[in-house]
Amino acid sequence: MIRPTKGKTPRRPVPKKQLNNQKDPVGVYCRVRPLGSEDEECCVEVISNTTIQLHAPDGLKANRNGEFKETQYTFKKVFGLKTTQKELFDDVAKPLVEDLVHCKNGLLFTYGVTGSGKTYTMTGSPGQGGLLPRSLDMIFNSIGPFQAKRFVFKPDDKNGMEVQNQVDALLERQKRESQQSVPKTPSSRQKLDPEFADMISPEDSSKAEGVDEDSSYSVFVSYIEIYNNYIYDLLEDAPFDPIKPKWNGTGTPLRHNTEFIPPQSKILREDQNHNMYVAGCTEVEVKSTEEAFEVFWRGQKKRRIANTQLNRESSRSHSVFIVKLAQAPLDADGDNVLQDKNQVNVSQLCLVDLAGSERTSRTRAEGNRLREAGNINQSLMTLRTCIEVLRENQMCGTNKMVPYRDSKVTHLFKNYFDGEGKVRMVVCVNPNADDYEETMLVMRFAEMTQEVEVARPVDRPICGFAAGRRHRNQAFKEELSRRLEERGGPVDGEPPSALGQLLQSLPQLPPCEISDPADDVTFPRVIECLEKRLKIRQMLTGEYNKAANMLKSMLQDLDGKLISKENFIHDQQGKLGEKDKMIHNQKNEIDRLEKKSKMLEYKIDILQKTTNIYEEDKRVLQHELETREQRLQRELSEKKRMEARMQGFVTDEKLRWQKECERRVNAKELEMQNKLWVKDEKLKQLKAIVTENKTENRPDKPQRPSREKDRAPAKRSASPSPIPQVVRTAPLPPSTRSVSVASCISEWEQRVPQADRQGSPSPPQSISRAQGLSRRRGRCWARDCEVPVQSRDLDLEENVYRTAAPVRPMHRRSHSAGAERWVDHKPLTNVELDTVMQPNVPNAIKVTAPSEKALSKCDKYMLTHQEVASDGEIQTKLIKGEVFKTRGGGQAVQFTDIETLKQETPVAPSRKRRSSENGPNQEQNKDGDWTDVETRCSVAVEMRAGSKVGPGYQHHGYPKRRKP
Ligand code: ADP
Ligand code: MG
Repeated sequence: MIRPTKGKTPRRPVPKKQLNNQKDPVGVYCRVRPLGSEDEECCVEVISNTTIQLHAPDGLKANRNGEFKETQYTFKKVFGLKTTQKELFDDVAKPLVEDLVHCKNGLLFTYGVTGSGKTYTMTGSPGQGGLLPRSLDMIFNSIGPFQAKRFVFKPDDKNGMEVQNQVDALLERQKRESQQSVPKTPSSRQKLDPEFADMISPEDSSKAEGVDEDSSYSVFVSYIEIYNNYIYDLLEDAPFDPIKPKWNGTGTPLRHNTEFIPPQSKILREDQNHNMYVAGCTEVEVKSTEEAFEVFWRGQKKRRIANTQLNRESSRSHSVFIVKLAQAPLDADGDNVLQDKNQVNVSQLCLVDLAGSERTSRTRAEGNRLREAGNINQSLMTLRTCIEVLRENQMCGTNKMVPYRDSKVTHLFKNYFDGEGKVRMVVCVNPNADDYEETMLVMRFAEMTQEVEVARPVDRPICGFAAGRRHRNQAFKEELSRRLEERGGPVDGEPPSALGQLLQSLPQLPPCEISDPADDVTFPRVIECLEKRLKIRQMLTGEYNKAANMLKSMLQDLDGKLISKENFIHDQQGKLGEKDKMIHNQKNEIDRLEKKSKMLEYKIDILQKTTNIYEEDKRVLQHELETREQRLQRELSEKKRMEARMQGFVTDEKLRWQKECERRVNAKELEMQNKLWVKDEKLKQLKAIVTENKTENRPDKPQRPSREKDRAPAKRSASPSPIPQVVRTAPLPPSTRSVSVASCISEWEQRVPQADRQGSPSPPQSISRAQGLSRRRGRCWARDCEVPVQSRDLDLEENVYRTAAPVRPMHRRSHSAGAERWVDHKPLTNVELDTVMQPNVPNAIKVTAPSEKALSKCDKYMLTHQEVASDGEIQTKLIKGEVFKTRGGGQAVQFTDIETLKQETPVAPSRKRRSSENGPNQEQNKDGDWTDVETRCSVAVEMRAGSKVGPGYQHHGYPKRRKP
């Protein structure tokens, strides 16, 4: 950076980092110029005020296998085709000028390919002044009334600035004026060179705000050109040569082309503050925009001539126009510039029009030209490298050396990048498709440059004098002159002023008419008077000085007070700022809380609404519940009524049916009694026949029991005891021995009609009852049965008596002997079943046919009888009876018990299932074994025993229980 220079005081710079930590990126702006002509191909499009887009031109696309490429670049601001010079200036250069008058440095450069509008942007064209003339105009507009007299500020040759006293400055002015080397400030724009007059239009003038009025300012300009890495001073006067005259201030062309003296190149130096400067470079003090621009124009002309003379291409040189602003505070009186070099501030603004950034020359480059082009490119290359390294250092925290020294341009501006200041770049773009590739490189560089940051310049502290000195001094001067005017005496009628009174009190001069040279009277009188006046005058002067001193000290006191007040105000302002911040914070907090409370209110609202909805729901549901309960109550009472009705109906029906049943039972009983009587009659007849035909050993005729007696046991029989069944056994013929008892019975029944025909009574129905008995597992519910066993008697008869006792008293063998003797009658026709449970009677007399002999020896009889059951299985029945001796000497067996043995295959349906199946269909099985409770119980017992005896084996019967 070019640190604001403070006089010549040798002072080491304060380390920058302690001064300032704030950084700003390099401001990069893009300006797109209009196309040169309509038929040019355009490759640039402004898509927003910060972004442009580059399209690859058609030709290029074809060259790259039709690859279509669009790239976008973003800048701080993009200025389109219609941007005016004024708009650009306001955005880009104005802040830099403002900084300049506030002692801050700035660097502004234009970058782009040749013909992209760099020079147009920087310098402008007639009627379209560029950034340079506009900046100059703004500077002079801002400091105009506060400029120091010429030569008060005087640059030394070490980039410093001196302040000369008034007298020295005056002397120098007079000297220069006599030399006529300094151009006089043109008093009006009419006197301007018509060549550039149009570039400075007074209508658009700008002005910086906050210019310190208690300082004095001076502007110095220098203009250099860097060509082929050489620095030339464009404002340098040609060395005195009587033949080759110097440049003149008006920019008049040289008298003769052959008189051209090539300029000497300059070198770069570093000043005591480590700022780079062009050693020995001309710095011209200028007092107006016109003068400054005229100087610039002079340099411009010289450049043009040099280019022509030396056959150079202007697009390959960098031009640097440096505006230096020196400012120093006025002294305490506000009259003169303070003669303190430490208080001199110098800031500078560099306006740089860089060389075209194209890689090769636009024109044919040959020989020297080619080398030059290389150098130009070299300096721009160095600029790019420097920017790249800077960016890398800043972004990655590295500390690579930035190669500023590799080229003059970068070296000159080194201080801007590693010091502080404001750097701005205007990238100029020609949308012409021919420039596409170059433009793309320019864009890349420009985008990268934006990432470099430069330390922000800090405000300089002001000197210790009270502000507003110039203004007060001015006011005082005005007041004094006004008073002096009043010295002439009071206006008629007005009281005389103090000064007037004083003047009046002066002794009047005596008449001074001298008639004689040796007038002894007049002279001494006049002398005396004058002496008196002198005394008064001296006295007055003394008083005046005293008063002045007093006033001065008073003023200084006031100044001090003012300063302390200002400090106080500053303090208060600081506090106010803090309070403001606090208020702001609290406001924010209040805002936040208000928002929150609004939110909560909203939530409460919603909840309220929800509650209402729920309450409404609750009411509705309650109502519904009540109605349902009422309905239920109604239905319940209805049901009860119905029940009562039904109960009445059922009782009625029951009674009706009971009566009906009784009626029917009585009718049936009567009918049955009749039938019984008929049968009795038949039996009686049969018996009579039988008794007649048989033995006469029986003189007693059995008595027919009365009907009443017959009925008695039936009435008695809640649990009927087994009634002896008399079976007359007769030896069966061998062929029929295998016939079952059932068949015998049926056989007997078939005989009955024969007998009936022969006059015997009708067969009894009790046989079929007996058959039913077997299904009741041997429980005999038949009435009296007697089986008189007679040898070889095939007839099987049955007599049913209604009496409890047998007609013929039977003698029962005594059991006192202990062991019972059994006749085990197993017909030969029986099938051997190999069952586990076999009747095993000890001491039994085994017979295959009943024999009287065997019966006579025993008191118990057991017939093992087999038959096929309804389910197809063989069923073994053990028909047991007791043997009685008949009165006739025969043997009679009274059956007492039947045990049924039945073998079943395990595939038979499970009982459980059957049982469950029986549930709803009990009617179907009501005659089956399973319907009987006893059966079920025995089954239960058998199932327990079943685990011992094996599956499928059933042992039905409880023989001992039935024993009398
Ligand atoms: P460079 O300095 O980049 O080589 P110049 O500034 O010399 O380019 O511009 C080349 C030509 O284009 C000049 O005639 C100039 O007037 C014109 N030109 C450049 N920019 C603009 C613009 N924004 N508006 C109008 N004309 C322009
Ligand atoms: Mg140019």
